[in-house]
Amino acid sequence: MSMGSPFPGQGYNDGYSRQGSGIGGRLIIAVIIALIAVISYYGRPGDENKITGKSERVAMHDEGEEIAMGLQAKPEMVQQFGGVDPDPRARAQVSQMGAKLLDALDKKLAAEGRTNPYRDHFQFTLLADPKTINAFALPGGQVFITEALYRDLETEGQLAGVLGHEMGHVIERHSNKQMAKSQLFQGLATAGGIAGGDQQSAQMSQAIAQMVTMKYGRGDELEADKWGVRLMEMAGYDPNSMIGVMEVLEKASGNGPPEFFSTHPNPPHRIEEIKKDIQEQFPNGLRPGLIK
Ligand SMILES: [Zn+2]
Repeated sequence: MSMGSPFPGQGYNDGYSRQGSGIGGRLIIAVIIALIAVISYYGRPGDENKITGKSERVAMHDEGEEIAMGLQAKPEMVQQFGGVDPDPRARAQVSQMGAKLLDALDKKLAAEGRTNPYRDHFQFTLLADPKTINAFALPGGQVFITEALYRDLETEGQLAGVLGHEMGHVIERHSNKQMAKSQLFQGLATAGGIAGGDQQSAQMSQAIAQMVTMKYGRGDELEADKWGVRLMEMAGYDPNSMIGVMEVLEKASGNGPPEFFSTHPNPPHRIEEIKKDIQEQFPNGLRPGLIK
């Protein structure tokens, strides 16, 4: 401790500086760190989402960064879930469904004078994992579905629903917004730890920060479900098939909860919300000819 002291036994250098940064000094540092965290989150106007037009607080301001991050993380995801599925027909069905949903979105956006910045970067990958029932998305357009979930689906419309839901996470930049929030909370947690001055308050602050920034929040999931409903209808599928997806997930949860549930609201609750969405989005009823 007193290695730097020229007089052993007296005049601890770090003891001296500790006096300088006692309660008062610690608080000042904590306040500065908290301010930096808050200013970098709130200090600039939100970015406009090019698809939804909504203003949002994000960590990566350029869609190119999101796309690069998704591409970078893709190989690890693929490896974690048994590699790319060996069945070329199933793989083609997944990527063709993705393309259909993207085309439908394009038409809608063109009518509103908007374009999809992720358009040419979306990739829909079927993963070989036969046991884990899951689907997920990385920022910038990487969408994945496991074979276990794919095989459990009963209709084309259900596949449209799953992929549409994952596209919703990309479109709404959910990971990116989570990152921004997580940076804010980590900053505040660090400040809290410093202000508290001991190990325990530091750990408590970190734990709270982690709880607040669980992977996708429940709100994000319901928002992604809404996109699923919207996109599948645009592409010519009956949005009620999204309810079928939830039933498939619920049945699957019989033998231990699949990962898909870990941060998701439970299926019965989601079914209720999906029914409400369909009512709200199509108050005059669904157009005829939609595929189940
Ligand atoms: Zn989701």
